[in-house]
Amino acid sequence: MLYGALEAGGTKMVCAIGDENGRILEQFFVPTTTPEETMPQIIQYFQGKEIEGLGIACFGPIDLHKDSETYGHILETPKLPWRNYDIVGVMEEALHIPIGFDTDVNGSLLGEVTWGSAKGLTDAVYLTIGTGVGGGILSNGKLLHGMLHPEMGHMKLARAEGDTYHGKCPYHGTCLEGLSAGPAIEDRWGKPARELADCGEVWELESDYIAQALVTLILTLSPQKIILGGGVMHQTQLFPMIRRKVAENLNGYLNTSQLQDLDSYIVPAGLNDDQGIMGAVKLAIDAKAAELQTK
Ligand code: ADP
Ligand code: ZN
Repeated sequence: MLYGALEAGGTKMVCAIGDENGRILEQFFVPTTTPEETMPQIIQYFQGKEIEGLGIACFGPIDLHKDSETYGHILETPKLPWRNYDIVGVMEEALHIPIGFDTDVNGSLLGEVTWGSAKGLTDAVYLTIGTGVGGGILSNGKLLHGMLHPEMGHMKLARAEGDTYHGKCPYHGTCLEGLSAGPAIEDRWGKPARELADCGEVWELESDYIAQALVTLILTLSPQKIILGGGVMHQTQLFPMIRRKVAENLNGYLNTSQLQDLDSYIVPAGLNDDQGIMGAVKLAIDAKAAELQTK
């Protein structure tokens, strides 16, 4: 069976055809400009592809409540042309197939839980540190939505000693995103993050903040594994630093087998940056299965 997958991002839309094993058979990219310009190209791509379902992993905020009038809409995004856009409704009308819908980060987490680093687990966290900081949560085998969906990138952090940077988040200043996302690194140090690879103090501070956030997530959600993705985590020297600081912060509190093996507990994404689009394939598979069940 073939499935369609759409990873809807703020700069580009990744469209793909995948199979039930998450194998990506072909891909197509469309720049994210306005719905009028972008969506017809996406629809045209999927039409005639004989897909049985479509999964959409979308930038937020989005409405995930099936009983809501605005289910499937993009909500109050700063990307103005997309505000209140009914992305699920438009695709449903064009393709007449079941559609699965979730956040981009929950999509990545679903890809990892189905085929990647967190395969088979029931409780996991995925944090992406890129242009922003976003997080997805799998709890008791289900992607967590709650009131809206988790927005853990905006948890407030305690500043590191001596750090006077005001923070880049327009809402909170020194939240996790305001202190550690790519644009915050560039703003603070005056150069794009990737050009600071050899600058030890950049990554010392970066790992301080990420570790602080991870400890809060560990204590709150009790995940079996944490996956870190996004452009900034391409600085792989961060992993051992973050693990060490998580251990220091926990200070011996909690003594699980997972926390004794932090190398396997805090890990990079395992699907070569395909976790998002593969997760969207899984959303499609699940939507099709749900439809078959109700028949
Ligand atoms: P997005 O969050 O927009 O989906 P990415 O996850 O690729 O996209 O994140 C882009 C951000 O990550 C940019 O702010 C960029 O500075 C940073 N980034 C990208 N590649 C690297 C790298 N190799 N090292 C450090 N930072 C990087
Ligand atoms: Zn914030």
